Amino acid sequence: MLNIKKEFEIMKKQKKTIEMKVGGIKCDACDWKDTNVSINDYKNWLNKPCPKCGANLLTEADCRTTKFIFGFIKLMNKFLPAPKESDKIAEGIIKMNGTGAVDIEIKEIN
Ligand SMILES: [Zn+2]
Repeated sequence: MLNIKKEFEIMKKQKKTIEMKVGGIKCDACDWKDTNVSINDYKNWLNKPCPKCGANLLTEADCRTTKFIFGFIKLMNKFLPAPKESDKIAEGIIKMNGTGAVDIEIKEIN
């Protein structure tokens, strides 16, 4: 669980309107997951089988989509105004299922 107020202070300092946090890896087919995997290790997980059920843990389609979203957010942060204290904060969870398609669940924090 993120400390939203602390995250917001860091984002203001960095003048970022959108921040994306990626980490951990989970299987879409069973309940296996490893929350300690860093995004820098994702290349080692590409097309690797789940240790529990053998399903593909990270497809090239999902990897491409993740890179695209990162690039998109970087671009958005260049054009959007820096966050202000009065701004509302929203948190979004991006879910992927191996096809490269995303399902975004957004909840407003304040
Ligand atoms: Zn699995």
